[in-house]
Amino acid sequence: MNREIFLERMTWPQVKAHLESGTTTVVFACGAVEQHGPHLPLFTDAEHGTALAEKVARKLGNALVAPTVRVGCSEHHMHFPGTISLTAETLEAVCRDYCASLSRHGFRTICIIPSHGGNFAPLEAMKERLREAVVPGTEVLVYTDLPEVIEIWRRVVQEASGLGDRVGGHADIAESSVMLALHPGLVRQEEAAPGCTEPVTPEFIRRIISEGFHKVSPNGIIGDARGLSAEIGHRCIDALADTLAEYFATARSGP
Ligand SMILES: [Zn+2]
Repeated sequence: MNREIFLERMTWPQVKAHLESGTTTVVFACGAVEQHGPHLPLFTDAEHGTALAEKVARKLGNALVAPTVRVGCSEHHMHFPGTISLTAETLEAVCRDYCASLSRHGFRTICIIPSHGGNFAPLEAMKERLREAVVPGTEVLVYTDLPEVIEIWRRVVQEASGLGDRVGGHADIAESSVMLALHPGLVRQEEAAPGCTEPVTPEFIRRIISEGFHKVSPNGIIGDARGLSAEIGHRCIDALADTLAEYFATARSGP
């Protein structure tokens, strides 16, 4: 069995021992509870985030995983029943308090992974303020390269199945495969369908934000979910975790 690294599963003496032995890096994800097409559960981005945070922490070594912030900025998905959305201000308040708490205990490198597209821009905008909220000497590192995530998914899906053009970034073949890998019992494979397949340009993203997701994709998918497989899902998670771990390893100053 893997060594326990989830902070919330430990006792306080265990966390104390980790800190005293030099484990002062902590990773957490900012996910979402929002619609993911007719075939995926609402907690897709939250669960994906936890899986990524665990892999990244294990790759970094000497790192723990703090609880995923499970709800994120999903206003553009509110047309779809079940979606829960925080304003950017609420997400910032939560992240600020998370980072401040972790730094007060002695964590000196805090790594934040957005596992939901709508959290990238708010996190980019708040990162300097998060750095002001922590104990001096603590670094707050935020990964905010959304185009790189889509690129990785497209490359992995293309290599694994030749269906890279089905990646659109939301409930598509890549993300559906990720959920199939993590929660096979919660994916309705018979409902996996094509969604909006327009190229994802900055103008297209502006339209989603201003008009709502349902205006560009009535079924809630961008890309095409057909062709999903657990094999593709595991490869997508691993490839993204590799890139994230490399990013944080390069960016952090401590050991
Ligand atoms: Zn998602």
